[in-house]
Amino acid sequence: MNIVVLMKQVPDTYAERRLSPSDNTLDRAGVDAVINEIDEYAIEEGLLLKEAHGGEVTILTMGPDRATESIRKALSMGADKGVHVVDEALHGSCAITTAKVLAKALGTLEYDLVIAGSEATDSRLSVVPALLSEALGVPQLSGARKVTVDGSDITIERATETGFARVQASGPAVVSVVEKINEPRYPSFKGIMAAKSKPVQQLSLSDLGIGADEVGLAASTTTVQSFEQAPPRAAGTVVKDEGNGGSAIAEYLASKKLI
Ligand SMILES: Cc1cc2nc3c(=O)[nH]c(=O)nc-3n(C[C@H](O)[C@H](O)[C@H](O)COP(=O)(O)OP(=O)(O)OC[C@H]3O[C@@H](n4cnc5c(N)ncnc54)[C@H](O)[C@@H]3O)c2cc1C
Repeated sequence: MNIVVLMKQVPDTYAERRLSPSDNTLDRAGVDAVINEIDEYAIEEGLLLKEAHGGEVTILTMGPDRATESIRKALSMGADKGVHVVDEALHGSCAITTAKVLAKALGTLEYDLVIAGSEATDSRLSVVPALLSEALGVPQLSGARKVTVDGSDITIERATETGFARVQASGPAVVSVVEKINEPRYPSFKGIMAAKSKPVQQLSLSDLGIGADEVGLAASTTTVQSFEQAPPRAAGTVVKDEGNGGSAIAEYLASKKLI
């Protein structure tokens, strides 16, 4: 079973994130970069399915040069190979373009199942898996907390607020996962050493037959027009209990129309 896991490299969520004032895109250069958190669960699920059914796990990413570091981490977890779509012209690409490029890259691979995270922590659009399934013309199974494969049937439990829905499709399909699905493994020392010699193929736009004018900021279907920092939190109101604490709190809540 050939599984492709979509992995995005994102700025570390613990680092201070900034937009570049020059083009309103994310300043990726000045911050630590990590595997998008939910994508670690997607990778783990790919590895578990491979252990159960055999086959290969390929990591696919579209991102700048340094995204190779995150591919190597995924390989050290146990994935077999990486495919890195990298081209300067991709900077500022919108979600629709991202999905088109990933679909073209998938066109160079053989796959039975594509596994993605359900949301990237940097732009949080939660649309790439759906756009990708549309571009590929294959079903999408979203929000999976469990995935089972039986022949070409792919069944997921889709997490809902009150429980789950069991949803099935015939593969190949795109499955997006949520954190409830598993506990991602840490790379072992052996895994880290083995990852150094695993293949990572770099693909440029011309390798995929995509023109530079079809991607990037200029071709984006949406643009960030402006941005503002959220104002710093104002200090809270402290009510001192000098024998009238209860009524002072009640007066405060009433002034805010909360009671
Ligand atoms: C600061 C900033 C500025 C932006 N400016 C613009 C702009 O001007 N115009 C515009 O249209 N868009 C802009 N974007 C959106 C940006 O292009 C999106 O990051 C991208 O389109 C994918 O959306 P997402 O990251 O929200 O993915 P989601 O849909 O939230 O991701 C879901 C899953 O899809 C997979 N995935 C997503 N991206 C990739 C990838 N590159 N490689 C491999 N797998 C992936 C991962 O498995 C991920 O868990 C901006 C984003 C940021 C952070």
